[in-house]
Amino acid sequence: MSISSVSESDDILDYNITESLANTPEYTNNPADENTSSKKSGVTYLQSSKFKLGTNISSKGKKLLPDMLNAFVLWRITVSVGLLAVHRFWSHRAFKAKLPLQIFMCIISFALGQGSIFTWARDHRVHHKYVDTTADPYNINRGFFFAHIGWLMCRKHPDVIESGKKLPTDDLKADPIVRFNRKYYFPMWALFCFILPTIIPIYFWEEKWVDAFFVAGVLKYFLQLHSTFCINSVAHKFGYRPFDKKIEAKESFFTEAVQPGEGSHNYHHVFPRDYRTKEHAFTFNSSRVFIEFMAAIGQAYDLKWTSDELIKARKLKAANDNKMKEDEAFLCKEWSQ
Ligand SMILES: [Zn+2]
Ligand SMILES: [Zn+2]
Repeated sequence: MSISSVSESDDILDYNITESLANTPEYTNNPADENTSSKKSGVTYLQSSKFKLGTNISSKGKKLLPDMLNAFVLWRITVSVGLLAVHRFWSHRAFKAKLPLQIFMCIISFALGQGSIFTWARDHRVHHKYVDTTADPYNINRGFFFAHIGWLMCRKHPDVIESGKKLPTDDLKADPIVRFNRKYYFPMWALFCFILPTIIPIYFWEEKWVDAFFVAGVLKYFLQLHSTFCINSVAHKFGYRPFDKKIEAKESFFTEAVQPGEGSHNYHHVFPRDYRTKEHAFTFNSSRVFIEFMAAIGQAYDLKWTSDELIKARKLKAANDNKMKEDEAFLCKEWSQ
């Protein structure tokens, strides 16, 4: 056994004894012993460090829950209201809105952080008009990754740019709120997407700014981007097509789960001006609830939707088209044998 190892063991033993003695009144009240006093201060230091460490761990644990709840609530509000603003209101004009509601939707669209209203709405109109072609900005035929996020990492296809110029955007250019949004997009995006969400945890539960920024800013932004991107990727790749089998847009349960109200994408491509964006009323659609609440208090009006008869007729037509295709395929197979 080496000397140093004996010494270490003794120190540990000594520390344990000292620590237990430190809690007894006799030991604490013996200032005469210099050696004891220095050990006592060492113990006090260790105990206070241990206490501080424990406090930090427990306070972090206590703050993690409100941090995550804050990020979750901001994520859901931002995508529900922000998307209905840029998508259902400015892209498709599925309803009309009074000025206070338009201003509110414009603010939330800054927090959404997916480009200016003008750019979002123009690209989305191009997507609907030229879906699944080279002019589609998020063309799923260029692969899942491209449709999800890859389209933001490369130059636009010339057909996308050409088609964007051809499509009517006069209503957007004439809209003063859209013009304001386009002009001040970047400073407002920084303010509403990152700065204000970071201030909430710092102000209300004294969170450290780094933790507040990464949870309420970065994590929340990550969630709101990818849940939206799933509409262009997942909802164009996986699912079923009860309304139009010729397009890649599908009814996607996964997209519906991460982006309530936007998973019924086959329906939406067939009836793009329906403010509900889906057929069924019984599944959760936070954007629809918001629009109907705004209509109830007089802020939204002239809501557009598709009648049940038309929905049924379209479903029947799609089923018949598919049946005809199956029959044709069967006859061709028979003939070739
Ligand atoms: Zn689509
Ligand atoms: Zn749309």
